[in-house]
Parts: sequence; C-alpha cells; structure tokens
Amino acid sequence: MTRHIAIIGGGITGMTAAFYLDRWAKDQGENVNITLFEASDRLGGKVDTVKKEGFVIERGPESFLKRKPEMLELVHDLNMENDLIDNRTGQAFILKNQQLHPLPKPSRMGVPTQLIPFVRNSLMSADGKARVLNDLWIPSLHYDGDISVGDFFSRRFGEELVDDLISPLLSGIYAGDIYKLSLATTLPDFMKLEREHGSLIKGLYGQGKPKSGSQFATLRNGLRSLIEALEAELASRINIVKNMAVKSVGKKSAGYQLRTSTGDQYDMDEVIFATPHHVTAQLLGEPEFLERPNADPNTSVATVAMAFNADDVDLGQDGTGFVVSRRESMAITAATWTHLKWKHAAPEGKALVRSYVGKAGNSAIIHESDETIVQTALADLRTTVDIEAEPDFYVVSRWPEAMPQYPVGQKEWLASAREHLEKNYPGIYLAGASYDGVGLPDCIRQAKEQAADLLNK
Ligand SMILES: Cc1cc2nc3c(=O)[nH]c(=O)nc-3n(C[C@H](O)[C@H](O)[C@H](O)COP(=O)(O)OP(=O)(O)OC[C@H]3O[C@@H](n4cnc5c(N)ncnc54)[C@H](O)[C@@H]3O)c2cc1C
Repeated sequence: MTRHIAIIGGGITGMTAAFYLDRWAKDQGENVNITLFEASDRLGGKVDTVKKEGFVIERGPESFLKRKPEMLELVHDLNMENDLIDNRTGQAFILKNQQLHPLPKPSRMGVPTQLIPFVRNSLMSADGKARVLNDLWIPSLHYDGDISVGDFFSRRFGEELVDDLISPLLSGIYAGDIYKLSLATTLPDFMKLEREHGSLIKGLYGQGKPKSGSQFATLRNGLRSLIEALEAELASRINIVKNMAVKSVGKKSAGYQLRTSTGDQYDMDEVIFATPHHVTAQLLGEPEFLERPNADPNTSVATVAMAFNADDVDLGQDGTGFVVSRRESMAITAATWTHLKWKHAAPEGKALVRSYVGKAGNSAIIHESDETIVQTALADLRTTVDIEAEPDFYVVSRWPEAMPQYPVGQKEWLASAREHLEKNYPGIYLAGASYDGVGLPDCIRQAKEQAADLLNK
C-alpha cells in the first residue's frame, strides 16, 4: 500500500521533513508518495540569499548555531561540508546613551559567569550592578510551569540587566516583548539552573569556562545554496508543487482533502503542516484547540543590508557590531559589520553593514519605502558611528509576521494540541518555527521528529 503524504510549506522545515521522510521510508521499505506544496514561486521560505557585485547578502538567516547538531548533519547529508565556514569572533557591543559598550564577558545570554569582569563593565550603573549581585542569594521559586523571560530575569537581576543585555541579545531571534515570551520554550536551561542552584551566576560558574571560539557557521555561497542542493535532491524523489497555496484541509472518513488556490483537490492520507501557525489554524478551519491563550501575533521585521567602501564605515572599535539597549528609542535593534564577521560576505576593500528594524508593537517601519528604511537605519547608525558616505547599494528585505512570539505556557499548549490532533485528526502533524524553537537547527529537529512520528504510526 502507498501512503500519500502532503507537506504544506516549502521553507527549511517542510523541505527537510520531505528529505528525511523520503530517505527513512526507503530505508524501511515503506511506499510513500510525498507532495510538497509551496505558495510562492521559490522554496526556502525565510532562507534566501542575494549575490550582487561580489557580495553575498542574506535576506533572512545568516548563520546557524553549531551546538545544535541538526543543521550540520543536514550539511553533511548533502555533501556540503567543504562549503562550511565559521564566524570570526570579535568583541560584541551594546549601544546605550549613544555609546558603544563592550558586552560584559564572560557571560551567557547576558548573565555574568564571573564577577570581577562584570563589575568593571562600562554599560550598567552602580545600582544596576549591585542589583545583579542579589542573584547570589535570591532563592529559587521552583516553578512548576512557565514564566515570562522578562519576569524571570528581572526577579533575579533587576530590570537594568534585562533592558541592557538580555532583551537586546534576544531581539535578533524573537524581536518580541520579553515580558510575554515563554522561558520554558525559549531558554529552558536557565529554568533548570535556577531549580538546581538557586543563583544563576553560581550555577553558570559551576559549569566552568564558557567555550571560546566560533559558535556559528554558515555556507560560503550563501544559505540559499543549501536550499538549492536540497531542492535538487528532492526533485527526482518527491512531487514539488510551487505557486500553489493550500486553501483548506478538510477531514474525510479516512484521510484529508486539500483544496488549493488553483481550485485543485488532493486526497491525502497524512499531512505535515510546515506553515506558520496562523496559516495552519486557518487551513484547518480555526478549531478551538489550536488557539493559543495570550499569544501575540508574530512580529514583523526587515533587514537592511548596505554596501560601502570599507574605509567609509569604521566602527571605531575592534568588533563586529552591536545590539541596542531596550532603553534606547531607535528604529534599529542591531547592526552587524557583516564583512568583519564573515569573510565571504564582501569583496576585498568593501564593507557590508546589516541592520534590523521592527520590534514588538512597533513594526510600522517595515511598510515604508526602501529609501525611507535605509535613511532611518543610517540616521540611527550615525548617532554613534562616523559614517558620512551613502551606501553604494542596498538590499531591504521585509519579513511580515515572521518572528513567532511564544507565549507563557507554549509547551503545555503544544503538548495538548498534539494530543488533540492524535485523537481527533490522526495523521496531521505540526512542525516549524511557530512551535518549538525558531533557529534553523530547531526547525530541522522538529521536521525530523514529526517525520519519524508519522513513519512509526
Ligand atoms: C530576518 C530573520 C533573520 C533570522 N536569522 C536567523 C539566523 O541567523 N539563524 C537561525 O538559525 N535562524 C534565523 N532566523 C529564523 C529562521 O530563519 C526561521 O525560523 C526558519 O527559516 C523558519 O522556517 P520554516 O520552514 O519553519 O518557515 P518559513 O521559512 O516561514 O516557511 C514556510 C513556508 O510556507 C509557505 N506557505 C505559507 N502558507 C502556505 C500555504 N497556504 N500553502 C503552501 N505554502 C504556504 C511560505 O511561502 C513559506 O515558504 C531568522 C529569521 C528571520 C525572519
């Protein structure tokens, strides 16, 4: 018997679900017929690279965390190891009061792991530093469930550390309101540390020296090259349908019927949704069990990549960029001197500066013209960095409703939604950035977990 399987959404999650499902089914001698539906005219979703005048410009993600193995495994499975490159490490800065302050080190996600270097930092006030040290004797609350990232860290360290360090460091990943963001889903290790040690500083100190060296990697021809390699692999093994949005997924007595934007209908035995959650809920007719209590809509962001002559954009510090304190009122939330971090990103003598705009409750800027977004980003940069030149060219990439905001209780909600699906919608699976981690390795992990679950049923 052949199992007909639909995968909806051709981003990294949907593509890797298809890749591993096909591979494992063959290994197990299962007959599967997989169709990957993608609404747009290209695969990759948020992964996209522009190559121009010798620059390699990432529109969305620029790299991935090496500590989580799934992306490196995929690179290996596609025989692309020779394309891997590590980031150049350098001092990171926090922009506050129009000055760049070195990120206090050693630290993990802004939490100091040694006291003497921390108390010497130029970023925080004396009161703010004293408040951080209270962590040493504040007892653990022993949470059973979840709490917001902001509430958890401000209880332990005070608001200044949260505003100056933790929130800006997380902003590139979630661009959200950290007083609403789930700790259990985004930073579960810290919850465990508190449970075991009370003080996070003591807990991290006990873990020894943080690893030095590069923690991130990318591909020298841009992350789009991974999408192209995956697509080439998939093309001969599964059905890929582009330019076709799935409009609804209806339950039949056995299996599901998909209706598409072109008016076609497909009967399927099983369906993996690799679409953003609000799309998934819509396709299934907005059932109540898919509603997430207290969830904010995804945040919209844009990236602004600007090409210059290297001499025209001196950061004035020996580093690769900065994130902006939550206490600053700026449109940009971060800026990276990308050519200093990644040697493949710009030709010799040239510079690529990449900024982020858009944050929770303040995303209107992404609807402005490219020129307005560029001039806004430049004006913010010029408050602190000496940049007189205009960019040779720029690439603005808008990502509406792109950054999932995991509400407090996300983990419990997801577990109960999956239970409900298993009972009432057998053969339906959910994976991707909306659920259990937004990074590329997290998306691949979820794709593999759901593909394995499907095959083992
Ligand atoms: C600006 C930015 C920077 C980032 N930086 C990093 C980084 O440096 N490192 C990192 O690890 N992660 C980063 N991320 C996060 C990461 O890129 C995403 O979480 C990940 O790419 C999401 O993949 P996905 O497949 O789950 O979703 P998506 O990439 O959103 O793919 C979903 C796909 O579904 C399609 N679709 C939607 N509706 C339908 C429908 N009805 N029918 C058919 N198809 C449909 C869409 O067109 C899309 O192709 C970044 C994200 C952004 C936005």
